[in-house]
Order: sequence, then structure tokens, then C-alpha cells
Amino acid sequence: MNYSYDSTMAPEGKTSIVMRYDSPWKLWENLEEDEYENEKLQIEKDATGFLELEYPGISKHIEVIDVATPKTDVRYTGVKDGAYEGFMPSKENMMKSLDMQLPKLKNFLMAGQWLFPGGGLPPSAQTGKWSIQLICKKEKQKFISDK
Ligand SMILES: Cc1cc2nc3c(=O)[nH]c(=O)nc-3n(C[C@H](O)[C@H](O)[C@H](O)COP(=O)(O)OP(=O)(O)OC[C@H]3O[C@@H](n4cnc5c(N)ncnc54)[C@H](O)[C@@H]3O)c2cc1C
Repeated sequence: MNYSYDSTMAPEGKTSIVMRYDSPWKLWENLEEDEYENEKLQIEKDATGFLELEYPGISKHIEVIDVATPKTDVRYTGVKDGAYEGFMPSKENMMKSLDMQLPKLKNFLMAGQWLFPGGGLPPSAQTGKWSIQLICKKEKQKFISDK
């Protein structure tokens, strides 16, 4: 993804390009120190190679490279297994969602990315709104929304 349309992503005349690859947590969870660093270096090399296919000669113009892994996501966000958008959507779970309430657990509502495979910001925010609506209903309060 080329962020050349966003002036906040790089100084003038430059751009940021993000390349994303999904990778199972199992491959990463026990990687440490040299093994981990070497894997990151390999990703850097492979990704630059792919970019070269698309934009020959680009390598000499690259000034900064940052490789983030599922471990990075865990370190920064605390998300389980580096699952940055919750459950991976598949043919089986695509149309399914989890209940916000759990049987026998009173006064508990779950909101956020884990309720919908594919997660992301919109469903996370939506389920937050649903939670408040359910609480309002229970407390017999009128739900007031901007939208
Ligand atoms: C690099 C990256 C890029 C992404 N890009 C996109 C994108 O382009 N579009 C998109 O839709 N989504 C994107 N996502 C996914 C999106 O950010 C998440 O799906 C969404 O933020 C999840 O919201 P959430 O409320 O479920 O969880 P979070 O936003 O993770 O909120 C959970 C909160 O709970 C807190 N917490 C954790 N444990 C405890 C505890 N024990 N006690 C109290 N608090 C606790 C955490 O500190 C955190 O504040 C991206 C994620 C990443 C990491």
C-alpha cells in the first residue's frame, strides 16, 4: 500500500509503502534473539525483492525499513497471538458472529474485534455501541446517539 496520498506518512517528496503478509502465530511464538532477528532480515530481503519486480531500481531509494511481526503486535497492543483483526475469516466462519453475553455470567458484555471474524475497527466500534445500548435498555435509560 503506497501512502503517497497522505502527507503525514513521510516528509515531502518521499512516501511510505506498507507490505503485509499474514503469518501464523505458531511460527513466531518461540522465535527469540538471533533467530528472530534473522527472520526479520529475511522478510526485509524478500519484500524488497518483490518491490524490485514491481518498481525496478527502487532499492537504492529506500531510506528506512521497519519490519513488524505478530510479536510486535503483541508487544504494542497485547492482542492474543498477534491476531490484529481477531479470528481469520474463512469459508466456515465468515457469516458467523459470537454472542456478546456468556451464559451464567451476569453483567458482562463482550465488545470488540473477536465477535466478528475479520474484526477490524468498524465492527469493534459497532459492538461497543451495541453494548451501551444493551446497558441503557437494562437500566431503562434512553440511548442517545449522534447518528
Ligand atoms: C498494525 C495494525 C493495522 C490495522 N489496520 C486496520 C485497518 O486498516 N482497518 C481496520 O478496520 N482495522 C485495522 N486493524 C485492526 C483494529 O485495529 C483492531 O481490530 C481493533 O482496534 C480492535 O479493537 P478492540 O476494541 O477489539 O481491541 P483493542 O483496540 O485492542 O482494545 C482492547 C483494549 O483492552 C485493553 N486491555 C487488554 N487487557 C486488559 C486488561 N486485562 N484489563 C484492562 N484493559 C485491558 C487494551 O490495553 C486495549 O486498550 C489494524 C490493527 C493493527 C495492529
